[in-house]
Order: sequence, then structure tokens, then C-alpha cells
Amino acid sequence: MEVLQQHLESGKIVIRNGWLMCPVCGKGKVLKLREDTTAYALPVYCRRCGQESIVNIEAPEPASDETSA
Ligand SMILES: [Zn+2]
Repeated sequence: MEVLQQHLESGKIVIRNGWLMCPVCGKGKVLKLREDTTAYALPVYCRRCGQESIVNIEAPEPASDETSA
């Protein structure tokens, strides 16, 4: 049984100008993101290199100036 090579590099996504860049080639826009966009194990397809990648998108931690402790 062949094992398909998948790019499961979670936490290594690059976001540029509100776009998630392709983790494979780093040049193709694969998904438009909002500031509060989150996704888990989301398949994205890059038209530039033709590769599909699985990405995890975590919401950025809120930069809270308040100390609620
Ligand atoms: Zn690509």
C-alpha cells in the first residue's frame, strides 16, 4: 500500500496580506483568511504548484493588555 506524501506541517503556515500562502511552494495564495478564521485539518489546494496541503489555522492569541489574573 502506497503512502501518499502529505504536508502535515502544522503551525508552519504563512499568512501574507490576509492570505494563507501555500506551504509547499510558498508563492500561491490558497485561502483568504479573516483575523478570526480558524480551521483544523483543512485541505487547501494551490493552483500555482498543484499541490494539496492540510493546514491548521489557529486564531491568533489576543494581545490583551489587561491582566485578568
Ligand atoms: Zn503551491
